[in-house]
Amino acid sequence: MANPSRKIVICGAGIAGIAAAYYLAVEHGEGEVTLVEEGNPLSLTSDKSTEAYRNWWPGPDWAMTAYMNRSIDLLEGIARATGNRMNLNRRGYLFATADASKVSWLQDIAQKAEALGAGPVRVHETASSDYVPSPERGFDLALTGADIITDRELIRGHFPYLTRDTAAVAHVRRAGWLSAQQLGMTMLEAARERGVKLVCGRVADVDTPGGRVSSVQIECQDERRLLEASHFVLAAGPMQKALAARIGVELPVIAERHQKISISDTGNAVPRHAPMMIWLDEQRLPWSNEERAALSEDDSTRWLLQKFPAGVHGRPDGTGDSKTLLVLFNYDNSPADVVFPLPEEPHYAEIALRGMSTMVPQLAAYIGKGARPYVDGGYYIKTRENRPLIGPLAIEGAYISGAFSGFGVMAACAGGELLAKHITGRALPDYASAFQLSRYQDPSHCDMLDSWGDGGQL
Ligand SMILES: Cc1cc2nc3c(=O)[nH]c(=O)nc-3n(C[C@H](O)[C@H](O)[C@H](O)COP(=O)(O)OP(=O)(O)OC[C@H]3O[C@@H](n4cnc5c(N)ncnc54)[C@H](O)[C@@H]3O)c2cc1C
Repeated sequence: MANPSRKIVICGAGIAGIAAAYYLAVEHGEGEVTLVEEGNPLSLTSDKSTEAYRNWWPGPDWAMTAYMNRSIDLLEGIARATGNRMNLNRRGYLFATADASKVSWLQDIAQKAEALGAGPVRVHETASSDYVPSPERGFDLALTGADIITDRELIRGHFPYLTRDTAAVAHVRRAGWLSAQQLGMTMLEAARERGVKLVCGRVADVDTPGGRVSSVQIECQDERRLLEASHFVLAAGPMQKALAARIGVELPVIAERHQKISISDTGNAVPRHAPMMIWLDEQRLPWSNEERAALSEDDSTRWLLQKFPAGVHGRPDGTGDSKTLLVLFNYDNSPADVVFPLPEEPHYAEIALRGMSTMVPQLAAYIGKGARPYVDGGYYIKTRENRPLIGPLAIEGAYISGAFSGFGVMAACAGGELLAKHITGRALPDYASAFQLSRYQDPSHCDMLDSWGDGGQL
């Protein structure tokens, strides 16, 4: 039941804060919800994303898979109700390798994903195998799980743009992408129709006399305002750690800087119907002999000749005159200070494009030619396990919806829903405890952290 005495103030109108407002006001009828945003809604991190989603997540348990399956169910529900305004597709993620010895590892991952609830594994070892491609548009494909293809002829037939060296691919099916801006605006408009107020200003402090939230101090154009609040939701994206510290809460999160490039695909290197493509192999960037010689002479560029990690990925975006390709290469995942505007990384575009051309050789035609790629990015705010923080904080009335790392768009709906259930006292889903900050007070959880393994980051 909506409680008229609840006054809920949400800090941050990124995708996390907007989803929280939507599920509180639209799904649960909460009447006193205020979103406070110091910039424009959805303009700090949530518009820098690759906007991709997947239900393929590693363990060690089923919680992340169940959470993402729920989030995708909710995304599909909103897409159906709005005539697919967010352009949700189901093209899948295509993990590819040139290393035939990785096939058993891929099968192992796929079987583990199946055991965690991501759907069945299908293996295709011959050219006549019944592999079913994903449609370019729509999201009604019933296939889940993953198709592992090891027959080179079958791979070439369906993905001719990949390097001829490709020895195996895993096509993950409950995956694709959407417009994060349209999803966010759909939820924000619906929330505002239900009375959610959007206030422009910076949350400067939260008053917590006696260990309970009572009001939120907002700064706007050198003026301070006090908003009465029974509940405060911290959804401040990159600023969440600093703001939590102001109310005496230490968040176990770090920030990583992540960039992406957008490059015009005038030469049709990647067909518009292609899936999200991820290269699973480490690589040395393709340089000519002359370039190699020049780079090796200079201390500041020699590192560009070193081995780069696996994981360069990209996808087509737009059609007609705006045909582009988005590429990300997260080769440096060291913790960073949160600084805006993002410091420039002079070699990033070159590294991303060259790295992606190892997987899609036709992209080499763009190296050093035509318009420079557009570069943007933001911060992944991450816990050690690469799982979000959703639920109550130690101060009565204070909550968090954060640590959304590189998955905040796909996770937004289930995150908003879960947060709203916490605040309104509804029954929580089985995965709720896996995402609460209080998990770090559980010794058995802390014992698992050292051997946690892959957090599923791309
Ligand atoms: C390069 C890149 C690629 C990505 N790709 C994907 C992807 O493919 N799929 C996916 O699901 N996710 C992806 N992500 C991750 C996703 O974009 C983020 O997890 C998500 O946008 C985080 O949303 P948020 O609402 O927590 O943060 P934000 O979008 O940063 O929103 C936080 C808001 O809080 C406001 N704020 C902060 N402090 C205050 C204050 N004191 N007062 C008032 N307002 C305040 C900020 O102005 C901001 O608008 C990617 C991220 C990056 C950087």
